[in-house]
Amino acid sequence: MLTIKNLHASIEDKEILKGINLEIKPGEVHAIMGPNGSGKSTLSSVIAGREEYEMTDGEMSFEGEDLSEMDPEERAHKGVFLSFQYPVEIPGVSVTNFIKTAINAQRKAHGKEDMPANEMLKLIREKSEMLEMDRKFLSRSLNQGFSGGEKKRNEIFQMAMLNPKLSILDETDSGLDIDALKVVANGVNKLRSEDNAVLLITHYQRLLDYIVPDVVHVMVDGKIVKSGGKELAYELEERGYDWVKPEKAV
Ligand code: ADP
Ligand code: MG
Ligand code: MG
Repeated sequence: MLTIKNLHASIEDKEILKGINLEIKPGEVHAIMGPNGSGKSTLSSVIAGREEYEMTDGEMSFEGEDLSEMDPEERAHKGVFLSFQYPVEIPGVSVTNFIKTAINAQRKAHGKEDMPANEMLKLIREKSEMLEMDRKFLSRSLNQGFSGGEKKRNEIFQMAMLNPKLSILDETDSGLDIDALKVVANGVNKLRSEDNAVLLITHYQRLLDYIVPDVVHVMVDGKIVKSGGKELAYELEERGYDWVKPEKAV
């Protein structure tokens, strides 16, 4: 689904990603862990195509198509979803209206008419019930006064509605409380299928107790220095990151 080879990327002429290789197949959940500043968020931004970042070398394809030539919108319409670390507040635009607009934009990109209102309502009901969302939440202004858990719930709701092929979930470095953690975990687990994949960027080993990854990667200084199964996350929890750093690797 996603193939990344020797990816190098810079911001303001400073090289951040220094040769990333990553292959994600349908049905898989990959976790990327690593110390603060190692380039995890940069990788998610580069995959999503955010313009501040310049890809300077390597290849990146999604379902066989070259991603590097696509703008962020095109990537989203192909099925790449990035949850934002700091979602914007949009006063006066409800959670429901925001997602309706997003859904119809996606349909338009595929040459489809707007989703009929009754179908949209049915989809919203189905997904919000699946995620055990309060109906009142759906009419609130986007992100305005949302708690950490509510922001996460909204992101997962957007993901459920848009049904992306690849979801990139980049968790903030600041505290995700246990409620927010469970919201993310339950949502992701419900949405997991043989057809879609998840790239979960986190340094919360605890999150990986709830969302069991197929592969865990460790990123240090712009490179993936180690990959393994879910047990790698526990090893990192116990031993920290120093032992995986290249100069100390066994
Ligand atoms: P992580 O998510 O692993 O904590 P980041 O990808 O956020 O790491 O950051 C990697 C490096 O890139 C850091 O040294 C950071 O200071 C730098 N960086 C990230 N974004 C920017 C930016 N917009 N401008 C300048 N430097 C940046
Ligand atoms: Mg960081
Ligand atoms: Mg980050």
